[in-house]
Amino acid sequence: MLTFKNINAIAIILIISLIISDYYFNIPVVAYGIVVLLWLIITTIGSFNITWNYHLKAYNSKTNSKEKRIAITFDDGPNSKFTTQILELLKTYNAKATFFCTGKQIEQHANIVKRIVNDGHTIGNHSYSHSPYFDFYGKRKVMAEIEKTNALIEALIGKKMNLFRPPYGVTNPSISKAVKETKHLVIGWNIRSLDTVKKNEQNILNGILRKISPGAVILLHDSKEITISVLEQLLLFLQQNDYQPTTIDALFNIEAYA
Ligand SMILES: [Zn+2]
Repeated sequence: MLTFKNINAIAIILIISLIISDYYFNIPVVAYGIVVLLWLIITTIGSFNITWNYHLKAYNSKTNSKEKRIAITFDDGPNSKFTTQILELLKTYNAKATFFCTGKQIEQHANIVKRIVNDGHTIGNHSYSHSPYFDFYGKRKVMAEIEKTNALIEALIGKKMNLFRPPYGVTNPSISKAVKETKHLVIGWNIRSLDTVKKNEQNILNGILRKISPGAVILLHDSKEITISVLEQLLLFLQQNDYQPTTIDALFNIEAYA
């Protein structure tokens, strides 16, 4: 399996083999460079693709799912403008979803958090700061971010969040060690909508619909206006095609709260 541990082991074996071979033949320095470069390329791609399960095992989709259930997830909220509109749409279509919130946003929108939970949706942890430097944090700092956000939610709803989605979906050894200690389950996705990048809603929607299958996990953001119109069409499609949008915990049969 293509994991960080395996790739490290292979790289070390290759380097040792080169050193030993160098004793008998003259191994050019570039051979070592190639091994290091390949290690770097694979590790970079693995770190940026949560679906690879490179650094840790994440829940990305329910494979071989027979039931037509899918999980819609919203990151980076709650948002004062868009989250309530999203909640209205979900109610209209009798759909349940999962919101991965940041501590900073939770502090500002306690009422929206309560509404998300009261409406039967699930809340997950998406770090406190969502800092662009999050992936350079050490284990302790990652843990502090997760624990601070968990404490905010516990004060509001009396429950500890079990689900964590790393900012940007990037994983690394620090995050892997941190979630082992905090005992959070890591949630990824298998359909990235790119709603924070693409500007055309039909384009975003088509990208999602092309990949829809039972057990899929869709990544959206409740911090973007364009997501609302995409969501409305997505919910309509799911309804017409007998898909039931459900929470992450219901899809994977895991506990959302401790
Ligand atoms: Zn995010």
